[in-house]
Amino acid sequence: MHALRTVTRVAWVLALLVLAGGLGWWLLHHPVQDLETVRRLGFRLIELARSPAFLACVGLSVSFGAVGALLQSRLHNDMGAISQRPALSPLEVVDANVALAVREMLTELQDSLRKYISRGEPDMIVFVDVLINGAIQVGASDIHVHPLESGTRIAFRVHGVLEEVMMLPREHHTRLINRIKVLAKVVLFRTDRPQDGHFAFATGEGPADIRVSLLPTNHGESSALRIARSSVRLPQLSALGFPKELLTPYQKVLDLPQGVIFVAGATGSGKTTTLYASLGYIKQTRGDMTRVATIEDPIEFDVSLFSQTQVNNEQGFTFAQGLRSVLRQDPNVIMVGEIRDAETARTAIQAGLSGHLLMTTVHANSAAGVFNRLIEMGVEPFLLASASVASISQRLVRALCPHCRVPAQPEKEELARLEAVGLPTAGPFYGPGGCPRCANSGYLGRTALYEVLTVTPAIRDCINGKVPTSQTHDIAVREGMVSLLAAGLARVNAGTTTLREVFRVVG
Ligand SMILES: [Zn+2]
Repeated sequence: MHALRTVTRVAWVLALLVLAGGLGWWLLHHPVQDLETVRRLGFRLIELARSPAFLACVGLSVSFGAVGALLQSRLHNDMGAISQRPALSPLEVVDANVALAVREMLTELQDSLRKYISRGEPDMIVFVDVLINGAIQVGASDIHVHPLESGTRIAFRVHGVLEEVMMLPREHHTRLINRIKVLAKVVLFRTDRPQDGHFAFATGEGPADIRVSLLPTNHGESSALRIARSSVRLPQLSALGFPKELLTPYQKVLDLPQGVIFVAGATGSGKTTTLYASLGYIKQTRGDMTRVATIEDPIEFDVSLFSQTQVNNEQGFTFAQGLRSVLRQDPNVIMVGEIRDAETARTAIQAGLSGHLLMTTVHANSAAGVFNRLIEMGVEPFLLASASVASISQRLVRALCPHCRVPAQPEKEELARLEAVGLPTAGPFYGPGGCPRCANSGYLGRTALYEVLTVTPAIRDCINGKVPTSQTHDIAVREGMVSLLAAGLARVNAGTTTLREVFRVVG
């Protein structure tokens, strides 16, 4: 394949050389002096073009070119077999079906890439195209190219989890990195310092912006490609994994005209998915005239329904400034990516008190913990109590493969922990089995656990009185809040996950 394209190139170069040589020879013998010479030059050119040697050269290069192009397109076609399916959304809720689809797509991609590499000298243009296309198909957010002593590890981050795609033999590493550098428009020969760049990649569903970062390491340059897709499909609120008895109260909160909704949870706990699905629900129920504005750092998903603004800390454009500017644009609903400082917190609370519904995330361990976290930041408890309408905490746990899970008995300490907080220990409990569908791991996809705290008059008193978080939590539970642990136990008893997983994330 590679050899054929080299021959094609040589044929084209030969044809051009014959043309240039003929022209040069003629010019040497007939210096241009007047119009007559130019006319004769024209005739000579036509004569030359009709000469059998020239025609043979042109004919040869055209046929070589045609065969080369044909082979290239066929290669693209059988490499791009998985692109026939609709691309998965990176905001997908990763239930067993989605996880299975991701696994199947990854296996297909791995097979075709491996076959392609084994055929000999691979064409890196095709290879990188297929790789990026595959990443977008499975809903990956990043592509990692990581050189090791034994070879180059290529991996995708899919729904927060790193999945190995292949180990590329060491000898292809430099050409792979060079192809990425050409696309990212960075300096090709510079290998001793970090470089950043970006490029647009066309997909069936609009262009994706690929941000590239290159870093020198002891085994060569490593590269990370971040994929920002346009017009991402939003997940439905009902698909998020809220239990039915939680969904209706949460929708009621989203129907409120004003107030602040907090989402707490660690990075990679699916907060963004919850925020976007909630905003999607608002847009759906309130209609097109509702203005939804977001301030994010960075904008990871381009959603055509919202007007999105990206903060730029290096240039002094902060969350607080962004929020103040967005407020002047008179939106109905605002999403602030994260509250990290007092100024943003105060502006957000003010917005929630003046006719806007605002959603944001805060680093806190539980729904009740959000309030003290903000008070520590310097927010006035009285204003916080008046503005808050709800606080959500969430975690992602690995889900058991529904095709092979087996009944299992938890360990004594685990049961004792349940007992200590007054939760039932009767079971049933399940554990991982192993089957082809889950690649013998016993787990397939992930599921989210939610704790939804609605701010009632009693909770308002707690915020105002700056009571310890555990006390606020207990009052909320007494008023009907299902804690993360209780929500997890319900999933355990239903066979969705294991008790160990729940304890791992709830802590
Ligand atoms: Zn299984």
